[in-house]
Amino acid sequence: MADVKLIDLKKSYGSVDIIKGVSLDIKHGEFVVFVGPSGCGKSTLLRMISGLEEISGGELHIDGKLVNEAQPREREIAMVFQSYAIFPHMTVRENIGFGLTIAGTPKAEKEQAVNEAARILQMEHLLDRKPGQLSGGQRQRVAIGRSIVRKPKVFLFDEPLSNLDAALRVDMRMEIGKLHKDLDATMIYVTHDQVEAMTLADKIVVLRAGEVMQVGSPLELYHNPANQFVAGFLGSPKMNFLEVDVKEAADGRVTVASPALEPVSIPHAVGRYAAGGRAILGVRPQFLHPGEFADRGHLHGRVSLVERLGTETVLNVDLTAGGRIVAALDGDHAFDLGHELLLGFEPERAHLFPPG
Ligand code: ADP
Ligand code: MG
Repeated sequence: MADVKLIDLKKSYGSVDIIKGVSLDIKHGEFVVFVGPSGCGKSTLLRMISGLEEISGGELHIDGKLVNEAQPREREIAMVFQSYAIFPHMTVRENIGFGLTIAGTPKAEKEQAVNEAARILQMEHLLDRKPGQLSGGQRQRVAIGRSIVRKPKVFLFDEPLSNLDAALRVDMRMEIGKLHKDLDATMIYVTHDQVEAMTLADKIVVLRAGEVMQVGSPLELYHNPANQFVAGFLGSPKMNFLEVDVKEAADGRVTVASPALEPVSIPHAVGRYAAGGRAILGVRPQFLHPGEFADRGHLHGRVSLVERLGTETVLNVDLTAGGRIVAALDGDHAFDLGHELLLGFEPERAHLFPPG
C-alpha cells in the first residue's frame, strides 16, 4: 500500500485541455473519492494514475517513486470498472485467480490467495460457479476479487456500482467500505453519485471541467463549500440560490436583501462584499422552515409541488417576488397546492457566494 502524489498533472488531446493541472496528496490507507458531473475528467484522471492514459504534464508519484513513464503493471495498481469484464467461460475461482495464472504464480500460492479473497468477499460457496449463474453484485465482487489477489499498492474504482440496481448498490457500497477497512488499502474511487462520495470518502475531491474545485472531508465540503459549484453539487435536494443585493458589509456580517427577502444579516467574512454590490445567497432546503420569523430571513410564496417521502416532505415554493425555492421538511406533512406560507432560515445556516 502506498501514498499517491499528483503534482500539477495535465492531460490534453491535441489542443483540448482535459485535465488542467491537478495537485493532490493521497496518504497511505486513505479512501479518496473523485466526484463531479459527467465529462469533467474523473475517468481520465484515474486512467492517468493507472497508466492506461499517457500524462501530458506534471508528475505522478506512487509510493515515493516518479511513475509518469511506468507501465501499468509496474505501478502495482488494480482497477475495477463499471463493466465487470470477467470471463464468462471461467469459474469464479478461475476468474479471481486469472491475474496470478498469467503471472505464473505457483498453484498453492494462487489457491491460497483466491481462497482468501473469496473469504473477504464472502463468496467461498460460489467459487465453482460460472458468471452466468451469478447476480450483478456477485459479478462485481468477482471483479473486485481479481484485484484483491494481486495485492496492489492502490485500488482504483471507476463507477463500479453504476450498473447495479438501487438496493444492490447500497449493499455493495457498504461492502466496499468494509473492504477498505479490512485491507487497510489506499483506494481512489470515481463516482458521480454524491451519496457514494459522502458515505465512502475520507476525502472528497470535487472536479469541474478538469480542475479541482475543493478537497476535504465530506462534512467539511457540505458545511463549508468553497464556492457555489461545490455548494450546489453536494446535498439533496440541491442548495437554493437567490440573487441578492448587499446592503452592508462590516464586522464579520453581510446584510443582504432582495425583492423576495427582507434585509437579513448573515455572519460571513466581509471579503469582497461591499454595500451596493451583488451576491448569491445559498440556503439548503433542509434549513428552510415554515412559520413566522421576525428575527430571521424569510421568504413568501405558494406551494407548487409536494413530495411526501415519509421521512421528509419536499416542497417546491413559487416565491411571490418571482423565482422558486425548495424546502425539505422533516417528517410527513400535508400541504395543499397553492397554500401560502413564509419560509424562514437562520442566518447562521446561510451561505454567500460572489455573483456568477
Ligand atoms: P468523466 O469520467 O468525468 O465523465 P472523462 O474523463 O471520461 O469524464 O472525459 C473527460 C473529457 O475528456 C470529456 O469531455 C471527454 O469527451 C474527453 N475525452 C475523453 N477521452 C478522449 C479522447 N480519447 N479524445 C478526446 N477527448 C477525450
Ligand atoms: Mg467516467
